[in-house]
Amino acid sequence: MSRIAYVNGRYVPHAHAMVHVEDRGYQFADGVYEVCEVRGGRMIDERRHMERLARSLRELQISQPMPPSALGVVMRETIRRNKVRDGIVYLQVTRGVARRDHVFPEGEVPPSVVVTARSADPGKAERQAADGIAVITVPENRWPRVDIKSVSLLPNVLAKQAAKEAGAREAWFVDTDGMVTEGGSTNAWIVTMDGVLVTHPADIGILRGITRTVVLEVASRQGLRVEERAFSVEEAYAAREAFITAASTIVMPVVRIDGRPIGNGHPGSIARDLRAAFHEVAEIAL
Ligand code: PLP
Repeated sequence: MSRIAYVNGRYVPHAHAMVHVEDRGYQFADGVYEVCEVRGGRMIDERRHMERLARSLRELQISQPMPPSALGVVMRETIRRNKVRDGIVYLQVTRGVARRDHVFPEGEVPPSVVVTARSADPGKAERQAADGIAVITVPENRWPRVDIKSVSLLPNVLAKQAAKEAGAREAWFVDTDGMVTEGGSTNAWIVTMDGVLVTHPADIGILRGITRTVVLEVASRQGLRVEERAFSVEEAYAAREAFITAASTIVMPVVRIDGRPIGNGHPGSIARDLRAAFHEVAEIAL
């Protein structure tokens, strides 16, 4: 089936989906993005993703290209045209096209909008969740404004490539105090030997993941004890369980960190239960 992308007002065949060479996203990584899960053809947590997008745009002083509801229409249409039942929809907004100059362009330059959607095999994700994944740790080397979901992802690209070359699925960034911040494209969690769920606070140093927010709600409904605090690599090695969260993976158990087995080396029951209950709390748009 031929894929379709939305590019600046038009639905075009994926092979012809182009942006201008002077798009500021292309030249300066001057843009932001969102990734939403698609499940049963429906977008998950659209409202929360649109709120975070609006915040990212505000922080970078990029104007909102169209109302969030209209962006939602474009995303749903892209999902529909690509016949995606389970997968992801990707939305990117950049500061637009202008003569190359670091400072913001003068006058009214419309932001560029790109939307793509693609299918993923839910069975494969479930098999991966049943096995668990390996992660490695890498030094934190990103700018401090990782709370903005910017397309400037070079450190994340390098970290995830390093993970792949080490036979792992994700890399956890570790700051100069030896504390885990988050993954290259996921938030990082552990469960202590006392059964306490621990994840880095979202006010600084990480992206406030939408999946993270929903998992905190699921955990509270399940009566789990949660601490939003930094945890060290040593604490992670000694954890009973570990897992990552993101819209593309939901809750994915981690069974090895830097080659060391976590807990009994198999996915833990807390991660499994959080994964199973996730969609009872996540918002499903009609
Ligand atoms: N942290 C980083 C650096 C990410 O890139 C992502 C997702 O892309 C996340 C965390 C998880 O965010 P979400 O749950 O909104 O997908």
